[in-house]
Amino acid sequence: MTSAKVLIVEDEAALASVLKDNLEAEGFEVRHAPDGRAGAATWRDECPDLVVLDVMLPHKDGYTLCRERRKAGDATPVLFLSAKGSPEERVAGLEAGGDDYLAKPFHLPEFLLRVRKLLDRSGALRAVNARLVFGENTVDLLSWTARAADGRELLLGEREVGILRLLASRAGEVVSRDEILDAVWGKGAFPSSRTVDNFVVRLRRHFEPDPAQPIYFHTVWGVGYRFTPLTNHQRRARGR
Ligand code: CA
Repeated sequence: MTSAKVLIVEDEAALASVLKDNLEAEGFEVRHAPDGRAGAATWRDECPDLVVLDVMLPHKDGYTLCRERRKAGDATPVLFLSAKGSPEERVAGLEAGGDDYLAKPFHLPEFLLRVRKLLDRSGALRAVNARLVFGENTVDLLSWTARAADGRELLLGEREVGILRLLASRAGEVVSRDEILDAVWGKGAFPSSRTVDNFVVRLRRHFEPDPAQPIYFHTVWGVGYRFTPLTNHQRRARGR
């Protein structure tokens, strides 16, 4: 699974390093450019999924840089960071082609949340999270299609995809039937928890080498399920 790439253009080394560490801890791939000129080159060459762009920069300010890339047809989402938080500055940032604006100093959680939102909106995160691979099974969570280990092409239903998405996002954890019902059927819907079991049986038929002895979709008796996205290598190491 590849991760989304974030470019930070920021001349304050200490701030850049904090942002980089935190984004990396969230699983992003991060590039840093310390001034406007280096920022322009890295932006052009590395095709980031998101640019975190300081406004006051040596060689070329953030607004100019953003305007230039927009003129070149570049639609990469831009989050401006600026020490000036006035409404006029925000407007200037948005006019320069920015998608969001955060005034310094800011709280890291807010920064990370805005980064995620921008990436989510642009589809970069969805693209990254769209493919689920376990063993020789590949699931496309956007088109609801899958290729099973034996080469069968499958069309999945909404509930099957919902359960897969939830279990995969919590891989290795026990997820209760109630949590699955809430997340996939919605709060206030009351199908019996047997319904969840029936869907898991279907997922096993689709994807398990031996549905009677699951290696991916484990039952945790009395509670729910745990998904183990074994790689091919791990699967073979277990002789399955
Ligand atoms: Ca600066």
